Amino acid sequence: MAPQGTFETGFYSRQNDIYNESRLTLMSDLREALHQDQTSLHYQPKVCVSTGQVVGVEALIRWHHPERGWVSPSEFIPLAERTGVIKHLTRWVADRALRDLKTLLPHAPDLSMAINISAKDLVSAELKGLFETRLRCHGVQASQVTCELTETAALVDPEKGLQALNALSELGLKLSIDDFGTGYSSLSYLKQLPATELKLDRSLIHDIDTCENSRVIAETAIKLGRGLGYRVVGEGVENEESASLLRELGADMLQGYWVCRPLSLEDLKSWLETRSEA
Ligand code: C2E
Ligand code: CA
Ligand code: CA
Ligand code: CA
Repeated sequence: MAPQGTFETGFYSRQNDIYNESRLTLMSDLREALHQDQTSLHYQPKVCVSTGQVVGVEALIRWHHPERGWVSPSEFIPLAERTGVIKHLTRWVADRALRDLKTLLPHAPDLSMAINISAKDLVSAELKGLFETRLRCHGVQASQVTCELTETAALVDPEKGLQALNALSELGLKLSIDDFGTGYSSLSYLKQLPATELKLDRSLIHDIDTCENSRVIAETAIKLGRGLGYRVVGEGVENEESASLLRELGADMLQGYWVCRPLSLEDLKSWLETRSEA
């Protein structure tokens, strides 16, 4: 596959060769990592803004490379998307997350599990089959699973994207539009998506406690989302001021370090237990 992005200059450069080679190595390492327990999932809770009740958790992949140490998803996910490795990654994530959901249900029976889906997954047309098998295999309800996808993901191939999303929704899965406010969404397209949840990107809300303009933008986005019938989640909430502002502005749910950092499965179970005792 032709390299894309900033290094696609058309000029030969030894630097670029080394760069690309190391990226390719990283990707073959990732494929192996998925089979060798170097990857794991962390879970970050989403809570109801008015009751504080835990509504769901989002699965976030973690990779501990034997030589490089922790590699950030923002580094390897885009690469995995470009090289096709994402297909294997999504399969691994879906399997692990649904297996873990099953073990979480005794702690939180109504918990919903959110899985991040990439644009590449949407056009590969395997998603519906993947979820059908995994749901059956782990014995969990489709209605307890949410697919989070960025608005741009659905726009890569709008027709195919919409088809894939409708298929997931017919299966009973919930859909969530992730990173809202960062892409170039066509609002008329957005409202065709069978989604039930809209996540306001952190960049939209990180300074609502200090910046009047940000507050106006957040308020408008929340009104828009709610007006279209979505449940609106504020993500990346880092302090109490932002949390109470989001509550005032009408958001439905919160997610962010202020509520809870992404946790390992075991830590999440303890966290859920202490929450339910509180
Ligand atoms: P995202 O889906 O928007 O996930 C939210 C990111 O923000 C996560 O970063 C999370 O750890 C971080 N975060 C949560 N609360 C806060 C906060 O209060 N402040 C700040 N500054 N950050 C917060 P992470 O885990 O590094 O993931 C980055 C991105 O990588 C994700 O963004 C998602 O697009 C992608 N990603 C992660 N796991 C997966 C996966 O399993 N599959 C796919 N396709 N993408 C994934
Ligand atoms: Ca997400
Ligand atoms: Ca997001
Ligand atoms: Ca993001």
